[in-house]
Amino acid sequence: MKILILGAGGREHTFAHMISQSERCSKLFVAPGNAGTSKIAENVDLKVTDFEAIKNFVLEKGIEMLVVGPEDPLVEGIADFFTQNEQLKNVKLIGPSKRGALLEGSKERAKEFMLMHKIPTAAYESFTEESLEAGKSFLEMLDAPYVLKADGLAAGKGVLILEDLEEAKAELERMLAGKKFGAASAKVVIEEFLDGIELSVFVLTDGKNYKILPTAKDYKRIGEGDTGLNTGGMGAISPVPFADKEFMQKIEERIVKPTVDGLNEEDISYKGFIFIGLIKVNNDPYVIEYNVRMGDPETEVVLPRIKSDLVEVLEKTFDSKLDEVNLEIDDRAATTVMMVSGGYPEAYEKGKEISGLDEVEDSLLFHAGTKLENGKVVTSGGRVIAITSLDMDYKKALKKSYQNAEKLHFDKMYFRKDLGFDLS
Ligand code: AMP
Repeated sequence: MKILILGAGGREHTFAHMISQSERCSKLFVAPGNAGTSKIAENVDLKVTDFEAIKNFVLEKGIEMLVVGPEDPLVEGIADFFTQNEQLKNVKLIGPSKRGALLEGSKERAKEFMLMHKIPTAAYESFTEESLEAGKSFLEMLDAPYVLKADGLAAGKGVLILEDLEEAKAELERMLAGKKFGAASAKVVIEEFLDGIELSVFVLTDGKNYKILPTAKDYKRIGEGDTGLNTGGMGAISPVPFADKEFMQKIEERIVKPTVDGLNEEDISYKGFIFIGLIKVNNDPYVIEYNVRMGDPETEVVLPRIKSDLVEVLEKTFDSKLDEVNLEIDDRAATTVMMVSGGYPEAYEKGKEISGLDEVEDSLLFHAGTKLENGKVVTSGGRVIAITSLDMDYKKALKKSYQNAEKLHFDKMYFRKDLGFDLS
């Protein structure tokens, strides 16, 4: 089977790594890919939201499966574009329809979906510029901290958590009237703050059946002890030690089943991943957000723990036969540590040569912001490379990742050395 993966990050390199190991894959392309994917697949210079260009490439090469990494093409309707086209409708596209993708594309829609299907989440109300004053009054009724969420996609930056009421009101005004996040904050969801520990649960569904994949916990802040600015993710650990059997049963009964049933009841076509951001409050799970694709860096710890042939699993997903899959999961823990450019998530330099890549032992390297320049691997983004390790427990796995981190080098390289600090 000829397969195309859309995306360019550590997530897509991990998909490429898993897919390239399958005997069912005869040829693998990644668009646009990075220096890491170029070693195991053919990189193609395509924009992930240019559906016409993707269509032409798929037809020209006879691509039979398309794995969509990031959310943008999904929210813009790539799955519908394929199903509505006679020549493309049999391509096994992994990703939800546009209506399904709205669970990530609109926070308000996600909240309405949860309310409708009785899925536990924080209480909320949503506001527009016209209802700005009502929004301010709503804030006055809540206790600090205040959670403001831009309704639309804002590249992971659209959520503000504020301690001060006056600041919250001012930010609400900046979002609604000042268009702080452009069209994404034309509507704002204000919700109750939930105090607990976060984890992510990943589900693969064919729209009818589902499989729960390994759990993961990511580390979003740049600084140790979860301090400083939010990033795309500085590392992740799987499984999450506090997500025991009993807690996972609650998640399945109260969240996963009603989510998949809800999609069915609303007749939404969904063949792909659901990434559920959860918070554990007093031993009960609440949904913080839905994402309609895998997470990055969570993919770097979730997929390497799947022992089943990933291509076969994805084929069954497209063919609505996920119930036939016996998903085999590696018992070992996986950790990934992200090497980032100095200065990230604010301004940073690119084009730094990365050395030591061949010295890494007993870990997997997943490239994120890297590219090849005159035969050398250089940095091309804030998050540069993820080092994934597997071992009997997360502490041992982390030790391997950190040992290998010492072997890598580029100018101003930085990584967090305290992952898992909140787990023991
Ligand atoms: P989201 O983009 O919705 O995942 O929000 C980003 C981050 O904000 C989450 O990962 C949480 O850390 C935090 N957050 C979002 N909503 C809430 C909430 N209701 N209570 C507490 N923290 C929240």
